[in-house]
Order: sequence, then structure tokens, then C-alpha cells
Amino acid sequence: MSHVFPRHCHANLPTAVEGDGCYLIDSDGKRYFDGSGGAAVSCLGHSNQRVRDAIKAQVDKLAFAHTGFLTSAPAEELADLLIAHAPGDLDRVYFVSGGSEAVESAIKLARQFHLENGEPERRHLIARRQSYHGNTLGALSAGGNAWRRQQFAPLLVEMSHIAPCYEYAERAEGESLEDYGQRTAQELEDEILRLGPQTVMAFIAEPVVGATLGAVTATPGYYARIREICDKYGVLLILDEVMCGMGRTGHLFACDADGIAPDILCIAKGLGAGYQPIGAMLCSKQIYDTIAAGTGFFQHGHTYLGHPVAAAAALAVVKEMLEKDLIAQVNERGSYLEAQLRRRFAQNPHVGDIRGRGLFWGIELVSDRQSKAPFDPKLGLAGKLKKAAFAEGLICYPMPGTRDGQLGDHVLLAPPFIASEEELDSALNMLQTALEKTLPKT
Ligand code: PLP
Repeated sequence: MSHVFPRHCHANLPTAVEGDGCYLIDSDGKRYFDGSGGAAVSCLGHSNQRVRDAIKAQVDKLAFAHTGFLTSAPAEELADLLIAHAPGDLDRVYFVSGGSEAVESAIKLARQFHLENGEPERRHLIARRQSYHGNTLGALSAGGNAWRRQQFAPLLVEMSHIAPCYEYAERAEGESLEDYGQRTAQELEDEILRLGPQTVMAFIAEPVVGATLGAVTATPGYYARIREICDKYGVLLILDEVMCGMGRTGHLFACDADGIAPDILCIAKGLGAGYQPIGAMLCSKQIYDTIAAGTGFFQHGHTYLGHPVAAAAALAVVKEMLEKDLIAQVNERGSYLEAQLRRRFAQNPHVGDIRGRGLFWGIELVSDRQSKAPFDPKLGLAGKLKKAAFAEGLICYPMPGTRDGQLGDHVLLAPPFIASEEELDSALNMLQTALEKTLPKT
């Protein structure tokens, strides 16, 4: 009898006992290719020597020092390294323990910045439908996934949700990608004007939407226009790169692909690569300086902020990525993965869209390619696919509710950056078998 409170009360999970490169091994010796890094976490695989050594060395030297009293060498060095590569004028790093905490910190920092900047009426956060920003109440309020929000709705803070940039499902026939991007971005300006420009504090979005949409990139020009609108109205731009950042989409910071920089940026997952729980919120010099010149402290905090062992692990992760040029490898293997996905699945009558960037790919499943009609949610397709793939020895990330939180199904792939072409081929064999077993016969 287990006393662990699991994610699903009736699941009978195997016990993971070992990690070996791209594979997890259970207590029966069965090997699973980690094709989604859990949820886009394990970018260096499960047995990276450098990261393991860094953790051991840090624990032997110093396990914990509360940041209310002391800073630590790994946190300082990691912040320097991140800022040296960060976009725009991001200048300070606030370390937390995961993605939701990074988003909570970002929302509160946006509010405190406006207060200290003499604009206390700025209080509204605008986010997008079909986004995911975490499960704590503030982050869940920002998230736009109806299914995740539903039962907690009475507890959530009111926020606005505009359209995502999701051209596969929402671009009109005959509309160019650019025109669609401009039309969608215009929803931000319209919402700012509706709320009253002096009352809006920030806009939050994922540069590449992960869990809820399945690796959806923005169309050309969308983020340039978003940045322009935020600047015009003094609205802070918060980018949530918890899933798509840290090399996953082919740049250390995902927004580099869109040619813009945010005022606040959230990272997690790939930052610790699963070796330690760590996330971070980066903010601009202007935001930091305003608070430094005002009250002098950000009224926030958690016990494990800047944990030295987590920071040492993340420092080793980022150094490994940069020194081994793993991000170039992400782009190279990403092109291979894309080509193989298209070769195998593009003609499948139930594959509506194959999309993504770097080593972050989504396949949207539809009942009819022509009309793009999703499957009946009663079929529980995503759940069946997850089970079938796992039985084959593949961990991937299928999710229902792609279109509106209810309708639609997709599967997300986010393999380790170290995966070889042969390993990717074998993962796709497993995915193909799982899809054949799951999708209705035509
Ligand atoms: N933001 C995004 C974009 C995410 O994908 C996630 C998790 O999937 C989060 C925030 C929340 O991160 P965590 O689960 O580490 O709290």
C-alpha cells in the first residue's frame, strides 16, 4: 500500500529506478525513451556526468544558506551567465524552485513595479486563451485553459484572455500568415483600450505554446507587433519560456527567434534539466532600478530562493549547453526530427498539423483533415495514445482540449538534446505503432 498521493488515484505506476542517457528504467528493467523529457524538462538526458558531479561537489561544500542572510557563489555565477546571454536589457535574475513560482513572481513584480513607478491604478493582466502558466492560483488565473481552470474558477483572480496566435485552427481562408498575426495581435490593443490603458499592468504569453496547444509558434511579425503595443501603452511584456526556453526551441532564450525582448522573462524546466528543481524570473534593469530606488525590496520570497545546490546544478546545465554547443545540435536534430515526422505522418488522414521549432514538436490529431474537425472528446484519444506509447516504451506528452480546453487532441515531443538520429528513429517507430493502435481505422 502506497502512502504517496499520486497525480491519479487509480493509476498503477511502475517505479523508476535508474536513468541512462535518453532512457528511464523501471524496477522490472523495462527501458522507456524519454521522448518528452517528462514535460520538456530532461534536456540533457538522465545521467549527465557534469551535472551530477556539480551537485555532489556543492552538497559537500554548502547545502543551504537562506538568501535573507547570505548569497552563494553558484547563484551569483549562474545569474551572471544567464544575463550575459539574455535578450534586451534583462539584467537581474530572481531564482525560484519551478515554473509556477517564476510566473507568480513575474505577476507580482509587474504590479510592484507600477506601484513604485507612481502608477498604482495599473492592475490588469492580459493573457491568452489556451495558454498554461502553472497551477498555483495566480499562474492558473493567467492560464487560459478552460479544463484546468474550471473547478477552481471561484478562487481565481479575474484576468483578460485574448486569442492565441494559433494559425492552424484560427487563420481565415485566404488570409496571409502576416495578416493573421496582425489581426490577432490587434486583440491586445483592443483589450488594453477596453480596460483603460492606464489600468493595464502586463501582458503574458508563451513564445511557443507548449502543454495546451502542442508546440505552436507565432506567425511572422506577431511578436514585433505585440512588443510595439506594449511599449505604446506602458504595459509590461512578460514572456513565459518555462517550457520553450533554455535551448528547447533552438535558442537559449526562445524569444530570440521572434527578434524581441520582454521586460520580464520566466524560465524553469530545462534550466535544471530535472537534476534539481529550479526556475527563474529575469527582469529588466529599469524594473530592478525602480524598485531599488523605491522601497528597496521586492515584497515576495520563498524559503528555497536561490538554493545553492539547485543553482550549482543549473550552472552545470547551462555551461554544458554552451560549451558543447548543444543548441546547434538542437537545431540540427530538430530538422531531422521534423523531416522524419513529416515523412511518416504528413499523409496520415488523422494528422491535421505538424508544427514546432528546435526539438519541440507537436502533432495535432483530427477526425477529418479537410475540415480540421477534432475527434469526439468522448473517445479519450490523448489518454489512449499516452498509454499505448508507454506500453511500447515511449514517454510522450499527449493532451486533450487543444482547441478550447475540451475539443481537440495533440501529442507533444520534446526529446533530450543528446538524442541521436537512431534514437529518434526508434522513438518514432514506437509513436507510429501507438498511433496505429489508437487512431480509428479509415
Ligand atoms: N509555464 C509554462 C509555459 C509551463 O509549461 C509550465 C509547466 O508545464 C509552467 C509554467 C509551470 O511550471 P511548474 O510545473 O514547474 O510549476
